[in-house]
Amino acid sequence: FAVSYAAAKDAESALDFEDLQLHARDLLRDHEALREREQLRFRSIMVDEFQDTNRLQCDLVDLLTGPGTERFFVGDEFQSIYGFRHADVGVFRERRAAAETLLPLTRNYRSRPEVLGVVNHLFGASFGEEFQPLAASGEFPDPVFGTPVELLVTDKSAYEDSGVHWRRAEARHVARRVREVVDSGAASPGEIVLLFAAGTDAEWYEEELRAADLPTYRSTGRGYFGQQQVVDLLSYLRLLHNRYDDEAVVSVLASPFVGVSNDALLLVRRAAGRRPIFTGIERTIPTGLAERDERLLRAFRQRFDRLAEASTRLSLERLCERIVADHDYDLAVLAQWDGRRRYANLRKLARLARSYEELRGPDVEGFVRFVSEQESAGAKELEAVAEEEGADAVRLLTIHAAKGLEFKVVVVADAGRDRNAPSADEILCLADGRFGFRVADPATGKRYGAFGYDDVTARRKEEDEAERLRLYYVAMTRAIDRLIVSGSIDPGRAADEKTPIGWVLGRLDCAAELAAATGPVELEREGVRVLVRLDRGALVEPVVLDEPEDAAEPGQLALFSPDSAPPLPPLAPALAPIAALPEPPLHDVRRLSYSALALFERCSYRYYAERVAGMRPADGHGTVAGTTGLAATEVGDAAHRLLELVDLATPEPPDVEQVRVWYPGVTDEELARIAAFVETYCSSELARRVAALPGARPERPFAFEHDGVLLHGRLDVLQREGTRALVLDYKTNTLAQGTPEEIVEADYRLQRLVYALACFLGGAEEVEVVYSFLERADAVVSTAFVRADVPALEAELSEAVARIRAGEFRPTPSEFTCAGCPALDVVCAGPRLRGGSPRLSSLAAAG
Ligand code: SF4
Repeated sequence: FAVSYAAAKDAESALDFEDLQLHARDLLRDHEALREREQLRFRSIMVDEFQDTNRLQCDLVDLLTGPGTERFFVGDEFQSIYGFRHADVGVFRERRAAAETLLPLTRNYRSRPEVLGVVNHLFGASFGEEFQPLAASGEFPDPVFGTPVELLVTDKSAYEDSGVHWRRAEARHVARRVREVVDSGAASPGEIVLLFAAGTDAEWYEEELRAADLPTYRSTGRGYFGQQQVVDLLSYLRLLHNRYDDEAVVSVLASPFVGVSNDALLLVRRAAGRRPIFTGIERTIPTGLAERDERLLRAFRQRFDRLAEASTRLSLERLCERIVADHDYDLAVLAQWDGRRRYANLRKLARLARSYEELRGPDVEGFVRFVSEQESAGAKELEAVAEEEGADAVRLLTIHAAKGLEFKVVVVADAGRDRNAPSADEILCLADGRFGFRVADPATGKRYGAFGYDDVTARRKEEDEAERLRLYYVAMTRAIDRLIVSGSIDPGRAADEKTPIGWVLGRLDCAAELAAATGPVELEREGVRVLVRLDRGALVEPVVLDEPEDAAEPGQLALFSPDSAPPLPPLAPALAPIAALPEPPLHDVRRLSYSALALFERCSYRYYAERVAGMRPADGHGTVAGTTGLAATEVGDAAHRLLELVDLATPEPPDVEQVRVWYPGVTDEELARIAAFVETYCSSELARRVAALPGARPERPFAFEHDGVLLHGRLDVLQREGTRALVLDYKTNTLAQGTPEEIVEADYRLQRLVYALACFLGGAEEVEVVYSFLERADAVVSTAFVRADVPALEAELSEAVARIRAGEFRPTPSEFTCAGCPALDVVCAGPRLRGGSPRLSSLAAAG
């Protein structure tokens, strides 16, 4: 990698940031005359934020220090939060120990004493002897009312079956409190900030603030390259470069550039047959389209042809502008609540295209590839900022972005988030040069640590924990008047105690007081006070704003009372009713596998995306050697394949190492999980029961016709004895979704009746269908059917087939179903639909 990377940089005559430091260090070190000349330029050197430097940067400072140069370092080891970009707080400690003169800085001119008291109490014990409590020295002419430090604690377990995700509930909790702070006059929106350790879910908090009618400005989240409008415009550029790029065609047709319905996408796909999708509209428009779709597709073809022809002579920047203007995409974007920012993002992409063209020439494909590479390399590019944006809005920032800033009210949000565990296959390297990684034994595929991997992992974990603590210290010390720390926690889950909010509650040692509380609780510890507001499931509904009160008053305002208003103009004549839209084309299903039926049951919209529109599910990569980690479907498949090897008469788990042959990418953890599934079955009461039955056989195929549809599939285990049949189906679902009975009822009802009908059609008079959830030996759901049930089963199946034929495709999001769904974030917002955002709900309904 190093050689290829160096060659790529040489080819571009480019230096990266590390090169700039390394070359400067080498020049100063190896060229005495040059070093002396540079040293003479500085009489004093002051290094600010010294805790964020590393050894290489310290070498540079040393090399610039001449015999008479004064040096002054300023830093706070407890604000060292840049380990991820190689800052080494150890360097700070070494230099401090060796310094001739130390000037402690303990006076804080930012925060109120009440805030600093809580910060000192929380962090003092954990930071050790080097920590010097901060003393408030600022002047605060206005008093602050109430308790300046609050905890908003959302009980995750209270939201388990509510249909509202706990993080959404926490976001509502925060929005409600911020609304109260603003309404009380304690701060204006522009004086409030929400800080996040990771900006991944900040969008939810922004939506809830917006729902509470608070203006917001967010600079966290998916980043610039993930913004929908940037993705749309890039798709259009891709399409201009290659009209047979299927993904680009679907993205453009479904986007506000064109906006055709799903039925139209399906008809275009069908018209293209096995050829690329664009051929479906290349020469003519497919028949059977709704009038609106036909009009949109015709308009698209005209504009697209014009743009394709113009693309050879326009600059990249101009081409971007023309695409946006010709399709009125700018108007569609500006009509949204954050339209100015979205539009600024489009302008920014056009400017990026201009810069690219100046360097590389007018190469559309090269530009699209360049942007994709930026995104996949995780390049951090902030969204464009529209003028005036953020002037008086609640800001949402990452803690790193807020370093060095201060705010009247700081809300440290999402403090219930657990740290992401580093990948087990990462090469770990410590600042002292020790490193370790894991290698696979070529014979067994088992992975072993090399070069002190275990020590390095343990040390790295300690360092990460310490840095996370410092991160929250930085966040809390941004507050001037008020500090609000918000997080969700499940009191019954030990792992949650390690989250930041769990840590804060642990430091306050308040479990008993909170358990007994029925409203807000004020805690007093060593003379400092914290107010805890608990939410135990009260915020299922979104924030509803009070209607403004009627401001009618006597006096001059009475002039505008309804009595004195001029008469209203007469009503406009009623328009003729709008003619009903034609029925959408039907989806004529001919074959259905049991897995297709199960998919339709779990989410009919995903069924549509995969089985009708032909979108390919996100594949796992477990079969590819050199990759790591399996998709959930691959874990399930591996468990099923192992169970096929089990002798049902004498159930013993087969060698789990066999999975490494099927899936070289499997991790040790996944392997252990798969082995546990198989062992659960083999040691279960159910396995003993099946072993005692004669003639139980695995993997039995079946097929039958119903209402003109061929239903087919395989039974995991089938046992026949006379007119009795038993079907066993293994499931690897997580039981966190509900009880086994609930999961079967919600997701596998149709599948179960298909199994039963298959057996009845094969001559059985009584059928028992058993679902064995392999997460727990006792998680077994058994249902018995008799021949008299057949008419009811057939009617239910007919109804499902009719629903599929009628095109009733609706998103039914859940974490389990949406994982790996090809529609996710392409034409469906997935789990975010559940949040009840008006915008997303309407999208779902439109879908
Ligand atoms: S993302 Fe989720 S809700 Fe949307 S179609 Fe896929 S499975 Fe259904």
